[in-house]
Formats: sequence, C-alpha cells, structure tokens
Amino acid sequence: GIDTLFDLEKLAVLGHGNGGTVYKVRHRHTSSLYALKVLKFDEDAIAVRQQAAREAEILKRVDSQFVVKCHGVFDNGLGDPECVGCDLCFVMEYMEAGSLHDVLSIHRRLTERAISGIGRRVLEGLHYLHGMQIVHRDIKPSNLLINNRGEIKIADFGVSRVVAGKLEPANSSMGTSAYMSPERLDPERWNGHYSDGFAGDVWSLGLVVLECHVGHFPLISPGQKPDWATLMCAICFGEKMEMPETASPEFRSFMRRCLEKDWRMRGTVTELLSHPFVTKESSSATEELVGYALEG
Ligand code: ADP
Ligand code: MG
Repeated sequence: GIDTLFDLEKLAVLGHGNGGTVYKVRHRHTSSLYALKVLKFDEDAIAVRQQAAREAEILKRVDSQFVVKCHGVFDNGLGDPECVGCDLCFVMEYMEAGSLHDVLSIHRRLTERAISGIGRRVLEGLHYLHGMQIVHRDIKPSNLLINNRGEIKIADFGVSRVVAGKLEPANSSMGTSAYMSPERLDPERWNGHYSDGFAGDVWSLGLVVLECHVGHFPLISPGQKPDWATLMCAICFGEKMEMPETASPEFRSFMRRCLEKDWRMRGTVTELLSHPFVTKESSSATEELVGYALEG
C-alpha cells in the first residue's frame, strides 16, 4: 500500500464529481501512477460525509480484478495527519483510458464483440460484489473505467451499500440517476415485495450495453431534452423496450433479460454469466477494447 500522501505528486485532474476531485498522481520514489480521489466536506454536510465513509468501508473490503483497486484510504475524521486539506482520500489504481463515458464520447458506438467483453467483465464484477453482499447502485458509463490492457473495472462506491433488509427508496440521500431500475424509482409498485437491490445493478448494466450499441442514452432520443418525468414514466410504466434490429439475436436476448421491468423476472447475475452473448471467447473482445482505449 501507500504509506504517505506526501510521496504522491499531482499531475493532472482526471474528473470531478459529487463532492470530490480525482487527480492523476505519481509516486515520487517508484514513479508508479495512481488516481487520487479527494473528497472535501462542508461542516454541515453530514449526509455527504456518511456517504463517503460508506465508500471507504466498501473499498477497504473489495479485492477483485473486476473492481478498481484501492491502495489506501486516508481519513481526516480519524485524526489522520496525512490528510491535510482533504477530509477523505482514496489512492486508487490508475485506469489510463478513463471511463466508458469518455470512450463513448469519442467512438459513440462500440462493436458487439467489445460490448460482450464489457458485459462479461461487469457481470464478473457484480458477481464478486454481490457475493460480498454489496449492491453497487450506480452502474453507468462514467463509473466503469478502462485501462490500456482493455480491462473494464467497476468504480465509484459513493452510493453503494451492504445489503441489510429492505431496499431504500431512491430519493434517500443520493438523488436519482437515469440508469436506475423501475423498482428503485417506484418501490411501492410491487405490493410489498421489496427488492434487495441486486437486480437493480443488472438493469443498469442492460442500459449500459444498449447505450454502447445505439450510441446514446437509450431511453431518450438523441437531441431530445432529458425531461425527468417522461423518463421516469418510460422506465417504470412504459411498454417493454424494443431491442434494436441491428443487434444480433443473442445480444437482443441478453438485453431483454437485463431490462425486464419486473425485477422478480429479470435475469440474475449468475444466470447471465452463462448467457451465450458473454460466453464466447473473450480475447478478441479484449483486443478491440485495447483499440478503443489507445485511440482515446
Ligand atoms: P464521483 O463519485 O465524483 O462520480 P468517480 O469515482 O466516479 O467519482 O470519479 C469521477 C471520474 O474521475 C470518473 O468518471 C473518471 O472519469 C475519473 N476517474 C475516477 N477514478 C479513476 C481512476 N482510478 N483512473 C482514472 N480515472 C478515474
Ligand atoms: Mg462517478
């Protein structure tokens, strides 16, 4: 691990997000590159602080090749003298090509082979997390990172949580996202059958792979202004989504299993890991992802 933040030299800003900034940093002695996520809180932002503490707890627990690795957590709240000017810092594995959101903004549409590789790796990551009783809850292109070896990994545990009992309604503390499942957005609809949240991650993955194929967020026509009420209706009450004719039958079948509106009928991570769309040989998928990563 990293012993001291003073050994890290800031090189560039990689991203901004909810309450934090992610920097590209270099270790002064080893020259290794890392991503440093720095979270700052206002005195009164207790909810934000709690959220960050949850992210730290989860990052300390996870260790998988399908999840962005965390090499150290520095926490001012614990009186950590290293953590000057920040409240919470994560030293993370550096993912050179940035997020899938970045890749999509350059390439727009990805090949089906590359998408199957993404689907496979995200499912492996979810399988690992769900096995640890962790629901990610914010699977979307900007939280899937890619490195120069074409490896996709799950990042950003800001709104994740360890499962204990019922699903909380989506409006509790973390706002809403267009990739949220029908049962997250409208939990009362299922006559008291609350989802534990695992199925919601599968829904989000379905939207991500569909987006990689059509080249824009699938529930809004390109150029159309996103209107939250319309979007929410489309997610919760709309007809079954039509799968694009341009996708192969296997790919369409995979997306249909992910995007089943009734979470009780939706494909599970275990089921989908043996779906023909993701069980084809994966080396060519990785090659294509390397291509996208390096061209970025
Ligand atoms: P937030 O909670 O603010 O969304 P994220 O952890 O998702 O924070 O990081 C925000 C952005 O910073 C990402 O979308 C990505 O572009 C960039 N980023 C985050 N972590 C890394 C990393 N390990 N390597 C490279 N880029 C990263
Ligand atoms: Mg994020």
